[in-house]
Amino acid sequence: MASQIKDFSKLCVHTLTTKPWNIEQCVKNYSAAGIHGITVWRNVLENQNLTEVKTLLDDYGMTVVSVARGGFFPSVEKEKREAAIHDNLWAIEQAAAIGAPSIVLVCGADGHQSLEKSREQIAEGIIRLIPAAKRAGVKLSIEPLHPMYAGDRSAINTLKQANNMAEMINSEWVGIAVDVYHLWWDETLQSEIKRCATNNHLFAFHVCDWNVPTTDFLNDRGLMGDGCINVPEIRGWVEAAGFSGYNEVEIFSDKYWATDQNEYLEKIKEAYMTRT
Ligand code: ZN
Repeated sequence: MASQIKDFSKLCVHTLTTKPWNIEQCVKNYSAAGIHGITVWRNVLENQNLTEVKTLLDDYGMTVVSVARGGFFPSVEKEKREAAIHDNLWAIEQAAAIGAPSIVLVCGADGHQSLEKSREQIAEGIIRLIPAAKRAGVKLSIEPLHPMYAGDRSAINTLKQANNMAEMINSEWVGIAVDVYHLWWDETLQSEIKRCATNNHLFAFHVCDWNVPTTDFLNDRGLMGDGCINVPEIRGWVEAAGFSGYNEVEIFSDKYWATDQNEYLEKIKEAYMTRT
């Protein structure tokens, strides 16, 4: 059994979890709540002076766990694949500027070609980014997404596929983000987590829950304990495999976004302490 969580030192919140807040509100409110891990989504960096953002993060004692997100490599159109490379290079620069050690990759898919072709283009795209990632000191985390997104958001849908790709690319700059929302249903999850960690590819761990019934396949994620995922069990597997990084709370929820975000943050802390 997974052990009880004792404090908030390994708690990280994604800025998109509190979508109504801008970067300044996220930093100040998380810090005031005793949460010092933050994964910064790029929407809150738009039109911001990144040096000032870095100062803000430092002033409030925040540790940036990741920048979310890069990726979206595949396309039947070459110009779009090139545009994706440029956007990912910019994401790497943004991450470096605010002190993030990694970026999360939602790898993409193009429904006008096969999943195999999309995966080929994902691998090509990631390989092209490695020199820039290395120069910037920013790691790249492949995030396998639930198969319901295979048509448009990611052709990498299982941890096994992500492990295969990370092992094929074989770079210390390329690893994997494990998200319980996307992977909880997979009967091979425990062994693939072990494989991922053994190869030093387990870079990140994201938590939330799967509501039953789910009313929206993008913006109806639950708070840990709301749904059917055994989050403590999966966290136990991840930790038993040697992972000692942050537990990143990543919840897209129209329901919670409509509530008071400070009260919601308290709910997150409670769910983290007792049901994660
Ligand atoms: Zn995630």
